[in-house]
Amino acid sequence: MNIAIIGPNCAGKTTCAKKIAKKFGLLRFSLGQMIKDSIRNHTFLGLITLPYAQRGNFVLDEIANATLEDFIYSNSNTPGFVFDNFPCTLYQAIFMIDLLKKKGKNLDGVVFMNLPANLSYGRALARTSTDEQIEKTTESITDRINNYRNSAESVLRLFAHSIPFLVVDAQQSEEVVDAQVDKFIKSLKNKNYTSSSSEILDKEIDLFLASYKINQNIPESHPLNLIIMGPPGCGKGTHSAFLSEYLSIPTISTGNLFRDHLKGKTPLGTLAGAFMNQGKLVPDDVTAAMVKNRLNDNDAMHGFILDGFPRTVPQANSLDNILATSSRSLDGVIYLNVPDEEIIVRTSGRRFCPHCQRTYHIVYNKPQKDGYCDADGEALIIRADDKEETVRERLMAYRKQTLPVIEHYRQRNLLREISGNDEVAIVRERMTNCCKELVLSKLASNNK
Ligand SMILES: [Zn+2]
Repeated sequence: MNIAIIGPNCAGKTTCAKKIAKKFGLLRFSLGQMIKDSIRNHTFLGLITLPYAQRGNFVLDEIANATLEDFIYSNSNTPGFVFDNFPCTLYQAIFMIDLLKKKGKNLDGVVFMNLPANLSYGRALARTSTDEQIEKTTESITDRINNYRNSAESVLRLFAHSIPFLVVDAQQSEEVVDAQVDKFIKSLKNKNYTSSSSEILDKEIDLFLASYKINQNIPESHPLNLIIMGPPGCGKGTHSAFLSEYLSIPTISTGNLFRDHLKGKTPLGTLAGAFMNQGKLVPDDVTAAMVKNRLNDNDAMHGFILDGFPRTVPQANSLDNILATSSRSLDGVIYLNVPDEEIIVRTSGRRFCPHCQRTYHIVYNKPQKDGYCDADGEALIIRADDKEETVRERLMAYRKQTLPVIEHYRQRNLLREISGNDEVAIVRERMTNCCKELVLSKLASNNK
């Protein structure tokens, strides 16, 4: 039996982990405790981790993982482990799952001690420090809480979707918490645990993360001017919506711009409509004019994510001109790449109900009865747009058209290629890490 106890600062993880260890005869692994002891004893581990501890940062993943591996290998005869506040990052989580697998073991369950940000902060301030070397200030606590929030989401979602996952409200009394955790572990032992649906778990995670929003200090102070690119079907819409919210900047999609201008019958909309009615492509300068208007709106002055523009090198040049008139420039081009074959699997599995317009997927979102709509029993169809030949053609056209633009930005060292060929949570983490790097390099160049 191997159990991980995770959650924010001061949620009661260690108290819980110690009790479980005693009750079920498991060995407790506490990276935090090992580091504290090592710092006190001036060991090698202590010396290399002290700077991180002082800044309220997590220790480097590589150090954390190596320490875990060493611990598991030197205690291979134990009937099981309880991981106290581990893993803290997605990288650690994946490393840990692989490591246990290599030893013929499993992570059997995860207990998430749920405590909102303000309570975690309050409890941390009230707790008296026992470490003389790690100074506790409101600033270091805020840093720790922000660090936690930035890495928590991927870990929580990964586990909620793949391993028996218990959410415990850490505001309850210790007795109630103990009883819930006890029940959970016993049902895992008896192999009769029924997990909440991942939808419910995702909602609980959403609520928890929302309490941390006020502490997201990076985006507001450092706006980014970004382009997002990627083949049709790569998940760009989902990911740019997430980035928009994360960075508090608008996504400007040319698809929506066209729709708005056409609907509002603006001069530009009427002009574009005239070309479209003749089955002609809308010329670059018309599109560029729409983009220019939008980029000069107030909300876009503090950063933006452009989606669908530029599609050609001349458009890329006119974007530079548009930005230059307001002393702005691009900070990065995120290229979300997914192999063609994967996109074909994703889109060709889509099914559509012609009666109620519900959509299904033969792998990711199956109807209860194969081939028929859950709501009305209508036979499902494949939309023309989702047919394999259509998708292949669209992908080929996209690659051919955008390759010069991608090369253009690669040469200017603005291109950040991100693999979108993984679970949403993993891709998100890649995107947020990429944005953090872009913020840092922007700060560095501003200070020159
Ligand atoms: Zn239907």
